[in-house]
Amino acid sequence: MLKKLGVQLLLAWSLAWTAFGQTPQKNEPEQAGPYGSLVIRGVTIIDGSGAPAFGPADVFVRGNRIARVALTDAITREEEKVEAGGGKRAAPDRVIDGKGMYVMPGIVDLHAHINFNKDVPAEYIYKLYLGHGVTTIRAFNYGEGDPKRMVEEKKKIAANQMIAPRMYVYPFWRGGADPRYSNAEGAKQIVDEWHALGVDGIKILSKPGLWPDVFKAIADEARKNNMGVAVHIAQDGVYPMNAVRVATDGATTIEHHYGYSESSFTNQTIQDLPADYNYSNEADRFLETGRVWLQADLGRLHGDVINSLLDAMHSNGFVMDPTFSIYEANRDVTRAVNLPWHSEYTHPAVMNSFLPNPSHHASYFFEWTSNKEADWARAYRIWMDFVNDYKNQGGIVAVGSDSGFLFSIWGFGTIRELELGDDSRSNGKRREGAAESGVGIDPAGLPGGYGSTNGKSAR
Ligand SMILES: [Zn+2]
Repeated sequence: MLKKLGVQLLLAWSLAWTAFGQTPQKNEPEQAGPYGSLVIRGVTIIDGSGAPAFGPADVFVRGNRIARVALTDAITREEEKVEAGGGKRAAPDRVIDGKGMYVMPGIVDLHAHINFNKDVPAEYIYKLYLGHGVTTIRAFNYGEGDPKRMVEEKKKIAANQMIAPRMYVYPFWRGGADPRYSNAEGAKQIVDEWHALGVDGIKILSKPGLWPDVFKAIADEARKNNMGVAVHIAQDGVYPMNAVRVATDGATTIEHHYGYSESSFTNQTIQDLPADYNYSNEADRFLETGRVWLQADLGRLHGDVINSLLDAMHSNGFVMDPTFSIYEANRDVTRAVNLPWHSEYTHPAVMNSFLPNPSHHASYFFEWTSNKEADWARAYRIWMDFVNDYKNQGGIVAVGSDSGFLFSIWGFGTIRELELGDDSRSNGKRREGAAESGVGIDPAGLPGGYGSTNGKSAR
């Protein structure tokens, strides 16, 4: 598996081997560069724009930038000679032989949790990402999720002091002792303080009390500061704060699948739930969140809801981040438990945290019966058709994996998310370029020309 991926991920190659206990090539340091000049020779290039792969070509890199890409065919070589005027060029600081390999833009995962603890080092998580070609993440927590600590980690990574994907930090908006979190004026102050600290955006796990005034204050202030607002609409906040309202009010991304079906309701205002439903029981909660799709008004979902979300995209830069892969265990838990890479790559402490246990978040597979899986499979079909239709009408859909829960581990989850993005297409429509799936989207809109392959960026 890793070998197959590694062929596509030339730049992550040496890291991947190191991460998984393989012997690095001789004289191959785990961390090196950036080089004054680096050349990757004879490689096949996927440029991430949706254009077909081409090559072999030489990629010339100066410092942190691709300076030039030249085909290595005979004509180009002749042109090179003429250009060089027969004079000798200085030898590059490093040459990588890319023959038989591909190079592509690093993958951006917009939904990351760095859930390290005393048993699971952050390095394990980072290297799983890098080994799969994920070079940028938008992190909603690093350990406990203290904003200051998250910014420190981000800066260390940016300064090349550790081997990890480039990180944008979106700490959770938490209540707690500070009353400013729950009033509009106080919220603006906190957003400004976070901005001054170096935070890139805010992650909101919504509750109805935050809406509409506090949410609006957060979104407006974030926009002023060029920060993003990622919203996970919790099921207890979904009425009246459905996805269309949240996107219209200024969310830059909506995580997961909550609030879309509710936005389509015509004959009801809230989801029909069983009489004995208890939101605090996660087994109940994660079953019924899927079943809400079975209550959607499909005409309205594919009409008004998509149109309103597209409007929010044009006015606020809204991006959909479905995280298809994280719920997959719900439609087939046996598959999720027995994924072939668990034995080699899933840390035992991480695997243990996935097993049914009422004291762990998202470890709710007690009596998870086939009729529940069948409902989730139906839900997936409705959800994926909706996302695909949105994408085909011009909506931007990102890649976010939410790995670290529900038998999905870092890196593997991102690749699975890409696969499921492909899977969601319907009516025989061709899958569009990687950018539509979020590959290469710059998640924080920061300057520097990183990422975006289609001129659009998600915040
Ligand atoms: Zn998450």
